[in-house]
Amino acid sequence: MPVFKEMDPEVAMKLLEGYENELDPEVKKLDAFYRQFKCPKCKGNMGKHFISVQHAFGGDSIVPRSGLKCMTCDLVLDPYTGIVVGLGTAGAEIAHEVAVEDD
Ligand SMILES: [Zn+2]
Repeated sequence: MPVFKEMDPEVAMKLLEGYENELDPEVKKLDAFYRQFKCPKCKGNMGKHFISVQHAFGGDSIVPRSGLKCMTCDLVLDPYTGIVVGLGTAGAEIAHEVAVEDD
């Protein structure tokens, strides 16, 4: 059975000495990119949201990419393509309307 053994943090820091931290500036850049989005349905604020492994590592970014989820209506958006990948509460409303129409 594989066991994960964490490296001694002091040894890890010693190994990283002399290297430039390229991850933090990239994260800040992406956070600024994500902050410019508002929910296309209700104009609510959006927070980072994991869509899939394929989406997270699908670009050429050195850090995983994020999707966005509306904090009000749960709509999920891929900010890189503009595609809505989850309807949130709107999906439940549409499903209810379809169910009512079928009766
Ligand atoms: Zn919304």
